[in-house]
Amino acid sequence: MKRITVAKGDGIGPEIMDATLAIIKAAGAQIEVDEIEVGEKVYLAGNTSGIAKESWDTIRRNKVFLKAPITTPQGGGYKSLNVTTRKFLGLYANIRPCMSLHPYVKTKHPQMDIVIVRENEEDLYAGIEHQQTDEVVQCLKLISRPGCEKIVRYAFEYAKQYGRKKVTCFTKDNIMKQTDGLFHQVFDEIAKEYPEIENEHWIIDIGAAKMADTPEAFDVIVMPNLYGDVLSDVAAQIAGSVGLAGSANIGEECAMFEAIHGSAPRRAGQNMANPSGLLQGAIQMLAHIGQSEVAEKVQNAWLKTIEDGIHTYDIYKEGVSKEKVGTKEFAEAVISNLGNKPSQLKAVSYAKESSLNLPKYTRKTPLQKELEGVDIFVHWAGTDAEELAEKLQVMNSSEVKLTMITNRGIKVWPEGFRETFCTDHWRCRFKPLEGKQLTKQHIIQLLRVAEANQVDVIKTENLYAFEGKSAYSLGQGQ
Ligand code: NAD
Repeated sequence: MKRITVAKGDGIGPEIMDATLAIIKAAGAQIEVDEIEVGEKVYLAGNTSGIAKESWDTIRRNKVFLKAPITTPQGGGYKSLNVTTRKFLGLYANIRPCMSLHPYVKTKHPQMDIVIVRENEEDLYAGIEHQQTDEVVQCLKLISRPGCEKIVRYAFEYAKQYGRKKVTCFTKDNIMKQTDGLFHQVFDEIAKEYPEIENEHWIIDIGAAKMADTPEAFDVIVMPNLYGDVLSDVAAQIAGSVGLAGSANIGEECAMFEAIHGSAPRRAGQNMANPSGLLQGAIQMLAHIGQSEVAEKVQNAWLKTIEDGIHTYDIYKEGVSKEKVGTKEFAEAVISNLGNKPSQLKAVSYAKESSLNLPKYTRKTPLQKELEGVDIFVHWAGTDAEELAEKLQVMNSSEVKLTMITNRGIKVWPEGFRETFCTDHWRCRFKPLEGKQLTKQHIIQLLRVAEANQVDVIKTENLYAFEGKSAYSLGQGQ
């Protein structure tokens, strides 16, 4: 028996949660439920996070959380409970299966059956942003080796557990050679440990285009946070079934399962809503807690019900559907199909192995690190890079000198183009002279001279080589 935490949420939440729990219990799920209150009532009672402290204790104790959609009140500084939960609990993997149910649910892609595995904590979503000059703001894109290893391994382990044949990686590493480059590199390393699973990498732009056009060419797709956020919605939409998709948010200790849709307040309390999205989340939960046989039974009964044409209003279509039913009646139909399998749609068969093999990340031996230079970022309202280079000459010494200036990454000095548009944000690269070794003292000295000469330094970035390999971007055009 596994204790889980359940939140019935707002709007249609309570109805679809009751339907979901009734189905999985009837299928033999070995669960006990602790219910907590989250969402609108909690927000309006003055708690801007939408959840009380005691509820966190319950979630952390049970480690498995099935959550119905909630209503986030408009305005008023309320924080998204989803984002908070993901971050607090370290839910690093977001898993969203997107499968077409052709011909029972309309889609342009009858063969589509993909799973998006999205990294959930890092990338541009670390939320580290700064305004640096009048004209320029920045957002730090952080990609870590543990983050990449955890998500890529999750994708391969998931493929293994669910009998999937291929894992595809999407990145933009032709442009972001360090960040997306690391994600791709880790993908290649870990793929080698799974020779029985095919692997491939696509540049995200053409990969996304291909996915939207020919999704049947893909199976499991793993990607960094931002791309995954966008493409998991695209995938759910083109499968024809945003209202039918569920998602899992998985961490090393805790996990949260939900539908991808919202609380649909206009449909609340009318026994109209489709419980399928939350049910899909619950099926992922059952597999996650080692009750794969129950998960398989529920999924096959659900497929059979869809195939029988027993549809809620949102997917009901004259000529295709047989009967328009409410939330409760739909749940009853799924329950009466427990033990049955679909005959047209593909029945599922999950591995009985209870849990994925996800070793904790262990820190590697430290790399040999060498300081090769420094980028000093300057706020300067001029437009001529030659003039700025001239102004910075005072910072040169017998050991360190200015070697390059870029503006928005494009080299503008030496030998820039007059045509290049420049903002007030300049990256000025200083390197040691031939035979000299740069130290932090040099950087401090550079900043002292800058300050004494009214050069407005806004930040510095050290330039390192790891294991003898320079690990920073060149100027475009350098
Ligand atoms: P929504 O997903 O609630 O509704 C979009 C449309 O889909 C509506 O027409 C709705 O009636 C329909 N719909 C959604 N789920 C359905 C279901 N199960 N069965 C039948 N029809 C369904 O999106 P929205 O209207 O933009 O948001 C409503 C509220 O939900 C907002 O407060 C929003 O913040 C919240 N929301 C919560 C979550 C979450 O808790 N994970 C996610 C998205 C939105």
